[in-house]
Amino acid sequence: MSEIILQKEIIKLKRNKDITILAHYYQPIQIQEVADYLGDSLGLSRLAKEKVNTQYIIFAGVDFMAETASILNQDKHILIPNYESCCPMAAYLTAEMVKEYKEKYPGIPAIVYVNSTAAVKAESDICCTSSNAVRIVEKMSKTLGTDQVLFGPDAHLADYAEQKSGIKTIKMPPNGNCYVHSQITVEDIENIKMEYPKAKLLVHPECKREVRNLADFVGSTAQMYNYVKRSPHQENSFIIGTEIGLLERMRIDFPKKQFILAKEKLICYNMKKHNLELIKYLLENPEDKNFEIKVAPDIAKRAYKPIQKMLDFS
Ligand code: SF4
Repeated sequence: MSEIILQKEIIKLKRNKDITILAHYYQPIQIQEVADYLGDSLGLSRLAKEKVNTQYIIFAGVDFMAETASILNQDKHILIPNYESCCPMAAYLTAEMVKEYKEKYPGIPAIVYVNSTAAVKAESDICCTSSNAVRIVEKMSKTLGTDQVLFGPDAHLADYAEQKSGIKTIKMPPNGNCYVHSQITVEDIENIKMEYPKAKLLVHPECKREVRNLADFVGSTAQMYNYVKRSPHQENSFIIGTEIGLLERMRIDFPKKQFILAKEKLICYNMKKHNLELIKYLLENPEDKNFEIKVAPDIAKRAYKPIQKMLDFS
């Protein structure tokens, strides 16, 4: 069946079902087009809580995002089209590791990126996103009177927060990284800048420090999107240092502007494991438990607190 026919069937099926489709910016564009809402991981989970009133939610994103949606929406059924869609960066940090770091550094707050498992969140003191990591590090250090914090699992985001705040971040673990962002090198940037000397360079804080230092703007996916949206008319060319899905979205939303990927194949293959056939199957079979992500109530209750604390601080 062609993609266009599948999309039409999905849109038709959605009308009669108690289901909402949420899709992350890194999803294939065909999935973005049939979603009810698009956004970043935390934005979508909050939206699920505040705006969605269907019993079933199809979450086209990786596993930790569906888990976060389940933590915030224990009364809803969160379905993931392909349960093999996992985040290798989140896998760098386990709940046991967080406990060990906390034992080794008593009194030092443990900050975890929302890109982490529910069990890891449950052991943390507060969560953060790539948009608010600097602010959360500053706030926790000030509130607890410490000159260092524990931070995981992304060591580059931890380094970014340290660089901006001047507060030491002890990385949990020292080498946690996202393969999509950490593969961008200074050489890649120099080459692409040579080809497009007037383009503004926008990169994600999960990139290495030497790459971030060359950027005109460092920010989360939503912040990059807003940077482009608010850019003056004469700024019409952007080199994008994040997953290709965001660039595809911006090409559609801002057709008069030019977007260039910082290097070829900036693709999160884990995010791309979902497809239209699987979404159609879930619309037809929402009760199939094989596709439901349900965080156990005791873990959800403990993981909810650090998320809520972050929201209170934001
Ligand atoms: S882009 Fe990176 S952080 Fe995001 S899901 Fe893929 S591997 Fe994980």
